[in-house]
Amino acid sequence: MNGPSARRGVEEAVKPAEPTFPRTPSDVPDVAIVGAGSAGIAAARRLVAAGLSVTVLEARSRIGGRTVTVPLKAHPVDLGAHWLHAGPINPLVRLGRERGEPLRRAPVEGHLFVRGRKGSRADRAALDAAFDRADRAMSQEARRREDQPAARALPPMGPHGRRVAKVHGLVSGRPLDEVSLHDFPSMEYADNLFIAGGLGAYVARLARALPIRLNTPVRAVDWSGEGVRLETAEGTLRARAVIVTAPMAVLQRDAIRFAPALPPAVRDAIHGFTPGVYEHVVLHWPDSPFDGPDRLASLVGGHREPPGLLTRIDGTPFHFFELDQPAAARLDGRDPHAPARFARAVLAEHFGHRAIRNLSVSLGTAWRHDPWSRASWAVVPPGSYAIRDTLKAPVGERIWFAGEALSRAQWGTAGGAWEEGERAAGEVIGRLSPAHVVPAG
Ligand SMILES: Cc1cc2nc3c(=O)[nH]c(=O)nc-3n(C[C@H](O)[C@H](O)[C@H](O)COP(=O)(O)OP(=O)(O)OC[C@H]3O[C@@H](n4cnc5c(N)ncnc54)[C@H](O)[C@@H]3O)c2cc1C
Repeated sequence: MNGPSARRGVEEAVKPAEPTFPRTPSDVPDVAIVGAGSAGIAAARRLVAAGLSVTVLEARSRIGGRTVTVPLKAHPVDLGAHWLHAGPINPLVRLGRERGEPLRRAPVEGHLFVRGRKGSRADRAALDAAFDRADRAMSQEARRREDQPAARALPPMGPHGRRVAKVHGLVSGRPLDEVSLHDFPSMEYADNLFIAGGLGAYVARLARALPIRLNTPVRAVDWSGEGVRLETAEGTLRARAVIVTAPMAVLQRDAIRFAPALPPAVRDAIHGFTPGVYEHVVLHWPDSPFDGPDRLASLVGGHREPPGLLTRIDGTPFHFFELDQPAAARLDGRDPHAPARFARAVLAEHFGHRAIRNLSVSLGTAWRHDPWSRASWAVVPPGSYAIRDTLKAPVGERIWFAGEALSRAQWGTAGGAWEEGERAAGEVIGRLSPAHVVPAG
């Protein structure tokens, strides 16, 4: 798990589209894009459709960023994003429908087990009621009050309070006392979908034929003169404008040097985010006690409760045991097999050792340690909810930022990243060639 062979599998799984790297001044593209994840791909598609020339520079040896699908025992398994959240507003859902992609609705009903036994209807009703109360309270408080930690808005919820806070902490990327309440309800998780073959594979399909240069980390953006100059190990690329989609946690480490330095408000916004952690421990568990495909399972009543467990993904024996930030932090610094042992120990606690006899752990993700992501997504701490918007304004009329961190309604998601890539591209088109402005899509 987490070893070099696992990582190599991820990096090699998705092969490039046609790479191009302009080497003569006459080949200078209108727009350079840093990063070939969802935001970069969306931006490139929109710019190309508007007739502008584009070069996408990607640090990794593959496209997709935090969406990637790999074959495990001949099944496609997502190691990053898997859910298409917020169906009615998710641009990847709209596009998928237009293209006839194999989308399917995520089941709404999940499994509930109490100390290893199926929960009763009353148990289910009590848990659902606790989630409803929490959602209502948080939305109301966010409208009414000064920003504060999201945890403070939670009402007393009896025995299920701990579970509700843990699940919301998992999908937020950090415990709720570290999350802005004003930012929290902007996240829309209703009407979720999945896509056969994996979300990473879908995003990679959308990048076909785009001019993407792999293995080309951008080290510096010089915007001192006209346009921009991007420094890479392959040389310097000039362009009229740049869209930077590198994750916030990567930018925070000054992986890209800006010259002149970015304005203080922009720098502060970048450094205002905290790293969200959400990691998959991928289980192969043919005899798991869960029936039906793609259901979330709540295991309650134990000493330890997994905050997220997605069962029988796409009807296969694969399951995601999710690690939240506190669990991942506890496991950091231990040996590479610690996440696998942890997942097995928690499941054995609920179902007994016999039940996990044929459970094997295929892989564990470590996006928080990956030099090109450093986090699963960017989290807004209490009091800082305006930073997403601060980053939407272009710098010097030639540097745009895009990516999941800028999305208000779909933050932390591939759909939000896509939306922001399209937004930035639309603004660049408006700036560079007003005659070319076309609707998103
Ligand atoms: C385990 C996990 C589960 C998730 N689950 C879901 C889910 O179910 N549904 C969902 O919608 N979202 C989910 N997400 C979040 C989702 O994956 C991200 O929000 C989204 O993919 C981010 O897209 P992006 O384009 O903003 O960034 P990225 O996909 O990270 O793309 C940025 C790209 O920039 C590249 N890059 C970085 N630095 C440089 C540089 N200096 N030079 C050149 N290139 C650079 C990176 O390699 C990367 O390819 C999950 C994330 C993780 C980690």
